Amino acid sequence: MRALLLLLALLFPPPDTDLQSTGVPYNDAPFRLPWAAGVDRRVVQGNMSVAGSHQGVEAYAWDVSMPIGSVLLADRDGYISMTKDDSNVGGFDYYLGTAANYVVINHGNGTQTVYLHLMYHGVLVRPGQRVVQGQPVAYSGDTGFAGGPHLHFAVEVASTSERVTQSVPVRFSDVRSWGGLPLAGRHYVSGNQQAEPAPYREPVPSVRRPSTSRSFLGQYQNSEDYPVPHGHFYMQTRGNAANARSGFLVADDDDMPFNQTMESLGGPTVVGYPISQRFVFAGLTTQAFQKMVLQWHPESGQIQPLNVLDLLHDAGQDAILEASRQIPPQMDMSGDTGLPWNQVVERHQAYLTVNDAIKSAYFATPDSLSVYGLPVSPITDEGNAFVVRCQRAVFQQWKVDVPWAAAGQVTIANGGDIARETGMFPEDFLAPDFAPIP
Ligand SMILES: [Zn+2]
Repeated sequence: MRALLLLLALLFPPPDTDLQSTGVPYNDAPFRLPWAAGVDRRVVQGNMSVAGSHQGVEAYAWDVSMPIGSVLLADRDGYISMTKDDSNVGGFDYYLGTAANYVVINHGNGTQTVYLHLMYHGVLVRPGQRVVQGQPVAYSGDTGFAGGPHLHFAVEVASTSERVTQSVPVRFSDVRSWGGLPLAGRHYVSGNQQAEPAPYREPVPSVRRPSTSRSFLGQYQNSEDYPVPHGHFYMQTRGNAANARSGFLVADDDDMPFNQTMESLGGPTVVGYPISQRFVFAGLTTQAFQKMVLQWHPESGQIQPLNVLDLLHDAGQDAILEASRQIPPQMDMSGDTGLPWNQVVERHQAYLTVNDAIKSAYFATPDSLSVYGLPVSPITDEGNAFVVRCQRAVFQQWKVDVPWAAAGQVTIANGGDIARETGMFPEDFLAPDFAPIP
């Protein structure tokens, strides 16, 4: 009889009325990102921003850029403790803080997740309701103190009355890099499977109110580039991007140290500024800079410059390069066969000796071989300039005055720029991203 009662107790445990008592510590909960699996979104402000708003109680919050009306999912099981969705007002000012719509999920382990800036009439759950991870809870918006459409969310110390309390550090099981910690300026594809379809709601932008708050850029207000965690963001090469505050992130994510490598090579003066995001080229993770194109080689654990002009030769582009850009064709390289590397270098660099100006321009950079590669053509008369082709750059000594140089001057056509202009790389990754909040 006693055994039967025990069995019944195990099969039918009492309802979980006291979620607070489970005592699960903050960090071992399998949180997932609060948007639908497979969707790519970008974090525009991360934890502990130095110039932004994620400080103090909000130190461990994230801002994720997303269009108004994006479905938001429970990041973890829990019950709904608070909601608001009757505000249709937003703007970039502190006085609008109370105008933010929100959902708060209490996880029963002493923590809660707050979702802020939700769309007018965009909340899909009610207080007291149990939710499971992946359950649609709301549609995102731009209500309250919000410069534009985004989700602000944070895991916090649970409260029965406060939607913003002390935030706590958490990790996400669907974030691969940096131990599951999302960082500013990065894209993340969620692994949070949506538990059920969300009822359709028409996207409603907020009525925008006047903005008087200062920008969140603080000390970086007038900077063209600034550090972000495990990386650096550069806006010098945004081109004619619609938004003046856009550019490219160089980071050390996923154990590929692009930022460290760029710095160890000499920074932007040697490598140039980034002109692309990371992309996959010939099966390898690659990022293009003005002067060099850097590629991660997993087998050697190193980042190496790509020989852009050799690749263009291999692609049969030499005739086009000479006709349209006055770049001489690659010479016959069979003379290198069997020679030790130092003799290969000597043989190729010897082509520079006939032109002192080009020779000194090539050797002016301390590690010229890494930056420019071997000269792979003799110095060639291309009409208005003497030109030498290297593996990663082209040197031109002008015979006449041109708009960008005086007669006698040497200019360098950079490998990264040439690669971009010849369409070697996928267009999608050449578009700059909006600047994250540092
Ligand atoms: Zn925020």
